[in-house]
Amino acid sequence: MNAAPRARRPAWRYRELAADLGVPLRENEPMARHTTLGVGGPADWFFEPQTPEIAARLWAELRRGPLPVRPLGAGSNLVVADEGVRAAVVATDRLAPPPRRLPGARVRVGAGQPVPGLVRWCAAEGLAGVEFAEGIPARVGGAVRMNAGANRGTFGQAARIVLVAGPEGTVDEHRVTDDDFDYRTSFVARDGLFVVGAELALAEDDPEAIRERIRAFRARRRASQPLQERSAGCVFANWPDQSVGALVERLGLKGRRIGGAEVSTLHGNFIVNREQARAADVLALIDELREALLRETGLEPRLEVEIWRDA
Ligand SMILES: Cc1cc2nc3c(=O)[nH]c(=O)nc-3n(C[C@H](O)[C@H](O)[C@H](O)COP(=O)(O)OP(=O)(O)OC[C@H]3O[C@@H](n4cnc5c(N)ncnc54)[C@H](O)[C@@H]3O)c2cc1C
Repeated sequence: MNAAPRARRPAWRYRELAADLGVPLRENEPMARHTTLGVGGPADWFFEPQTPEIAARLWAELRRGPLPVRPLGAGSNLVVADEGVRAAVVATDRLAPPPRRLPGARVRVGAGQPVPGLVRWCAAEGLAGVEFAEGIPARVGGAVRMNAGANRGTFGQAARIVLVAGPEGTVDEHRVTDDDFDYRTSFVARDGLFVVGAELALAEDDPEAIRERIRAFRARRRASQPLQERSAGCVFANWPDQSVGALVERLGLKGRRIGGAEVSTLHGNFIVNREQARAADVLALIDELREALLRETGLEPRLEVEIWRDA
């Protein structure tokens, strides 16, 4: 069945902006290429700024345009609709200069820095404090925005300064306060900000001791998560006293399949792209899980993955 033709996209001055700032721009970029789940239709405009300063200027300009502006990290928490999104996407993968060590076990890092590389680099430098994130396939900006966490650690605990795009196109320093982060969310999400970098406060430690902790976290993750398959991590946020994965398992829904999407047989809160899944398969499975969890607990589960689709 052919999808209905998309309406013409507003051209505004997206091409001119990219040319003025020297920013690579792709049009109708398939988002399946940029999400770990591997689903998602085209984004109208896909910008790839190369420095924090250019990214900040681009962000401020794009916010004046007619389309929503969506930052993109590693796409490891996203389900993008098959129809795609009418949006200006700002990718962060080029905002990844090598991490820079500062006095006092601090580290400056770009928003596009892949978290796995950061974890390895910190271990080699003898800096402890991000090893909790072993196995989180994010970029730093997305991890800060989501307050990604595991093994009793979170990015909110590690971050001291978050570099954000200011409304006038400058790079502004936001000093982290106690109210800035909550479970899998942050002031970045609340205020609709764009992160271009961060400064983390770490602690000196023996590299081998850090690596030992990383190995232990890796083993635990491998035993409990379908890391060989394409997914977007946990579908729903856990309740404080209840694991969604365990509940899905109790409800007998592990292995439940719609089209090419399947509830992981290893972890009940993961949906995997088993065989050329469409976003529609994933979304139908999410709905089914949501209804089952609501029926069982009387509580509306909160989505942890983010769905990108036009209203
Ligand atoms: C196998 C697997 C394991 C996972 N394990 C964990 C885990 O243990 N703990 C955990 O918390 N999560 C986990 N996740 C989920 C995911 O990695 C996190 O939510 C992560 O923080 C998403 O980062 P990202 O760079 O991929 O962001 P994306 O998925 O690209 O984007 C997520 C959200 O952040 C926004 N965003 C991205 N970059 C920026 C930026 N620079 N500025 C502002 N907003 C931005 C996007 O617009 C979107 O709203 C896992 C995912 C997978 C696939």
